[in-house]
Amino acid sequence: MELTNINIIKDLFARHGFSFSKTLGQNFLINPSVCPKIAELGGCKEGVCAIEIGTGVGVLTKELAKRCDKVIAVELDERLKPILAETLAEFDNVEIIFADVMKIDLSEIVGKFGGKDVVVCANLPYYITSPVIMKILESRLSVKSLTVMVQREAGDRICAAPATRESGAVSYAVRYYSEPRLLFKVNRGSFMPSPNVDSEVIKLEITNEHKLPENVEKMLFRIIRSGFSQRRKQLLNPLSAELKLSKEELCGAFLNVGIKPTARAEELTLEDYIELAKKLVE
Ligand code: SAM
Repeated sequence: MELTNINIIKDLFARHGFSFSKTLGQNFLINPSVCPKIAELGGCKEGVCAIEIGTGVGVLTKELAKRCDKVIAVELDERLKPILAETLAEFDNVEIIFADVMKIDLSEIVGKFGGKDVVVCANLPYYITSPVIMKILESRLSVKSLTVMVQREAGDRICAAPATRESGAVSYAVRYYSEPRLLFKVNRGSFMPSPNVDSEVIKLEITNEHKLPENVEKMLFRIIRSGFSQRRKQLLNPLSAELKLSKEELCGAFLNVGIKPTARAEELTLEDYIELAKKLVE
């Protein structure tokens, strides 16, 4: 069944009485070249298992199932159950869990793959792009990479190198756990219904380069978030309010790790933040 064919989708929806939910971010892919590319570039192949978030009618699920040993997908909308039973009937290596991805234990899913390499591939619901990515990264889920479609602006921010004007708190957080890169751009006409923004597919390769004690990690993300909440101001100001420390005390910590006291959030590298976090928990 060609799931990028608009007439086939319309027929499926009519037979199952399905209509799109805007609040669930349901923009389904109808450009036939995109899903095979996500699966290929996402590392789907024999010996590898995949986790998908948000199946829609199963257009990407199929491409993952064709290439991987096993696919476990999480989908919130139970109305899709009878549709997926039809569209994925030919695959016996797909399991769908109907649940909210933000509320389930993803490590349990990884556990079901019996130690094989695992990748995450998804066309993410845009209203929870960053929370889903951060949930996977922060839980240090044992996966090789995340290959995900996101809104173009969000993707550019995630992939921006720290200490550049384009960077934001999420750029630092993502770099702490992974090496992000832009794979390809996808225009809004590739979806049904068509969203108001263009998209892009990004890949985060998990590096596990950094591993700090829990209290330092907490402090690290706290100071990054706080700094970027007022990115035009000198970092010292929001940090002093957040940590309830005097500017003099903070200034000492800054100088101690070689950071200019006048620096703004976006001027620091990830390593600067890590050194500052270590100093602040001392
Ligand atoms: N993969 C399909 C495609 O490419 O056409 C659908 C992608 S659509 C952008 C996002 C999907 O995520 C929808 O099917 C939506 O119902 C599902 N979804 C939304 N919120 C979710 C959540 N919290 N947990 C799991 N799935 C969710």
